This record gives sequence, structure tokens and C-alpha cells, in this order.
Amino acid sequence: MTKEEEIPDWVGAQEFYEKYEPKEILGRGVSSVVRRCVDKRTSQEYAVKIIDITPSDKMTPQEMEEIREATLKEIDILKKLKDCYESNAFFFLVFDLMKRGELFDYLTEKVTLSEKETRKIMRALLEVVQVLHNQNIVHRDLKPENILLDDNMNIKLTDFGFSVQLEPDQKLKEVCGTPGYLAPEIIECSMDGEHAGYGSAVDIWSAGVIMYTLLAGSPPFWHRKQMLMLRMILAGTYDFTSPEWDDRSDTAKDLISRMLVVNPRQRYTATDVLSHSFFSQYVVDEVRQFSPYRRFKVICMTVLATMRIYCNYRRAKPVTKEVIKSDPYAVKPIRKLIDACAFKIYGHWVKKGQTQNRAALFENTPKAILLSLTTEAEDSPLHTW
Ligand code: ADP
Ligand code: MG
Repeated sequence: MTKEEEIPDWVGAQEFYEKYEPKEILGRGVSSVVRRCVDKRTSQEYAVKIIDITPSDKMTPQEMEEIREATLKEIDILKKLKDCYESNAFFFLVFDLMKRGELFDYLTEKVTLSEKETRKIMRALLEVVQVLHNQNIVHRDLKPENILLDDNMNIKLTDFGFSVQLEPDQKLKEVCGTPGYLAPEIIECSMDGEHAGYGSAVDIWSAGVIMYTLLAGSPPFWHRKQMLMLRMILAGTYDFTSPEWDDRSDTAKDLISRMLVVNPRQRYTATDVLSHSFFSQYVVDEVRQFSPYRRFKVICMTVLATMRIYCNYRRAKPVTKEVIKSDPYAVKPIRKLIDACAFKIYGHWVKKGQTQNRAALFENTPKAILLSLTTEAEDSPLHTW
């Protein structure tokens, strides 16, 4: 074990160590380390978030006190949400172990998710957000790194470090969260001291950014220069023009465009989102309630649609060597392959850097050197590249 990997051994930690056996590190935050741990009595696995409040040379006593207070606030919120919380010893927060880790890493592995998978994750996320908002709790840091998955792809929301419980009519002004997921009104607060403040609608904006990212593989607002990215957010400038959107339903796009609304008063609430038709599609029970006539009609329509798809497929432009050579990225299976390879090779680089972003892996502009290589390879057989 390196010095960094050492398990802290403070007075007050005994209670935790008596009950649990700490194991490997699962993740890290700004001031915390999350480890897998095993209940010594039941052999049940858990995750423990160990928050470091020991004085260090790097921090002033005031900074230590701020972390202590923030942690107490986080524990207070977790206690209100029975489900998210198992038991705790002082600054050792024990949670159910989420074996598949972060949605962030799952997305990096998959590049993009299907609408079906997105529907399942977004429904579960919005159900949690609805419960929080009903209790006037704002999470303020919704992002794929803070959504954890178990073996059955159930989700759990984590990291309540920025969460607050609002008094009725209370508005927030503090700027916190993660740049790409910030709602416009939070950025406005940072620019205008007179701003009226923001509320729970900021979580819906972040959820909209998450949904867009799951379907497109890259986020809606992204620019290498952060100032320009923030400007895009303030203006609500994003589009569905990347090729990934070609096969996405209008219903999915419609829902995203109702979450990414700059004016928080016109933005959907968690309840509005859950009642959107995106979540009521393909409900098998509804089909079962059809009368025999409607069932017959549905079968006929399905057959017709299948035939139409088949005919369109037959009419599709053949993928010739020329097409592949001139613009391989325009050919869907090749594009998928290129993106998947890019994420395999550079996926680790996307991880969590403030200036790195998965969007960069989709920025495919031909480089001069690569173009000259293609010219050289013009006559060589396809399989050589
Ligand atoms: P921080 O507030 O320091 O960001 P988080 O609560 O977000 O802490 O946890 C940091 C990371 O630890 C998460 O992003 C995740 O990778 C991992 N982690 C946290 N809780 C669990 C859990 N219950 N099961 C598995 N991994 C977890
Ligand atoms: Mg976190």
C-alpha cells in the first residue's frame, strides 16, 4: 500500500473497524475516499465513504471547519432519505454497494445508450428527484458520476455534498455544481448580485443534460474554452444535429427540449417529466387491453411498417469503396466502430478532468497528416487501414 492508499486510523474510527473490514478503493471525491467494505458478522458487502477531516498541512483550520460543516449537512440530508442510508459512525457513511459503479463509466464503455436503457435510467432518476423536490431538497450536483448502478441496472443517487433543504419560498444564490451541468440561472447568479436566486428547477436542467448525453454520447453544451461553454448555457444554445440524433425519436428530443429551457419557470418539473409520453411508450399492459379489432389493426400496421423498413433498406445507397474512402465517418457502422475504438483507447482520459470532456472524442476533423496518408493508401486494398 502506498502512503495515499493507507486506511486512516483515527480515534473514533474504532466503532467502524469493529463492525466492518475495509477493502479496495471504489472512487474518490474532493475530500473523501469510497471503499468496498464487508460486514464482519454477516459477510454482506457495502460501500463506505470515509471523509477525511484530519488536520493537514495543506488546509487551514477554517477550511477544515468548512468540510466538517458540509459533511454534517450531507449526513443530515441522508438521514432524511431513509433509503440512501444504512448506518453511520462519525464520518464513516455506509451505503449499499453498487457493483457496476458510476453511470459515467458505463457510458464511456457503451459510448451511447439506447432509448430503452435511457428511459429506464431517466425514469428512476426523475423518481428520486421528485421525492427530493417534494421535500424541498435540491441536489445541485446531478451528473453521471453521481449516479451509481447495481447488477440489475437499478440506480442510486449519491453525493449529497451540495444538497440543501429549502425553507418555503427560499431561493439560493451560491454558485456550486459542475460546469457542464450548471443551469443558466446559477451562472446568472454568479454574474449579477441582484439576481432573485434559483431553486429546485436547476436539478431538472442537469437531468436534461444527462439525458442528452446518454443518447448522443457527448454533452449538449461544450466548448474547450469554459467561458464560451457558459455562454452557450446562458443562451440555451444546443442542437440535435450530430449523426447520433438521426435514429432518435422525436419524443425523446421533445422531452429534452422541455428540460433544457432557459427560463426556470417554463421548465418542466419532475412530475411533468415523468408524465411525458417518452415514459409511456411501449407499455405492454396497454397493448393487452386492446379490443380484438385494435389488436388486428396493430398487427397489420406492424407488418406494413416492417415491409416499409425492408424496402427502404433495399433502396439504401450501397456502401462502396469510394464512399468509405471519401468519408468513412458518414457510414453508420464504421462511425460506431471508430467511436467505440476512440473510447476504448482514450476513455480513461475523458474521466473527470475539468478541461477534458467526452465531447472531444466526437470532434472528428480530418488532420492534414491523416489526409496525406489516405492519398498514399488510395490504391492499397481496404483491409490495410
Ligand atoms: P464525493 O462527494 O467525494 O464526490 P461520492 O459520494 O460522489 O463522493 O463518491 C465518490 C465515488 O465513489 C463515486 O463517484 C463512486 O465512484 C464511488 N461510490 C460512492 N458510493 C458508492 C457505492 N455505494 N457503491 C459503489 N461505489 C460508490
Ligand atoms: Mg461525487
